[in-house]
This record gives sequence, structure tokens and C-alpha cells, in this order.
Amino acid sequence: MYDMIRRIDELGRIVLPKDIRDANGWEPKDRIYLRVTNEGLLLSKVKPFCCVCGGKDNLITFDDQHLCSECLEIFNKGKKHQ
Ligand SMILES: [Zn+2]
Repeated sequence: MYDMIRRIDELGRIVLPKDIRDANGWEPKDRIYLRVTNEGLLLSKVKPFCCVCGGKDNLITFDDQHLCSECLEIFNKGKKHQ
């Protein structure tokens, strides 16, 4: 654990240093969860989940959204009936 000081820019952004991003496996376009606590702000990477059921298994990614194989199957069945 170590401390650092970062400056907030005019748009409210701070840059997360590359070594911290690399150490946490954070990549551009990852969603970061912010939790405000009495101790300060905690940051963690949002784990991908199905945008329909919230499931976390067998995900297929479209752009930056995820769909599980079960929801995809239901979606494809629905399309065939139209
Ligand atoms: Zn699903």
C-alpha cells in the first residue's frame, strides 16, 4: 500500500497512473466502480455481467455490453417467431 497526490482537472478528472492500472488489470473503457466510504473513495473494476439477467457466466460481448448464452438463445428464438 502506498499514497500519492493527484490533481483534479477542470472537468473533474484525475489520471490513474499506468502502474496502478496495470497492477489492477484496468484497461481503457473498463467500467470502474466507485464506493464512497468514511475512510475515502474506493475504486474497483466492474466485473462483466449480462445486461438482461445480470448473470456472470458464458458471456458474449457486443460493443461494451454483455449477454449470456441463455439470454442470447431466448433473444434468437424470439426473433425467429417474428
Ligand atoms: Zn442473461
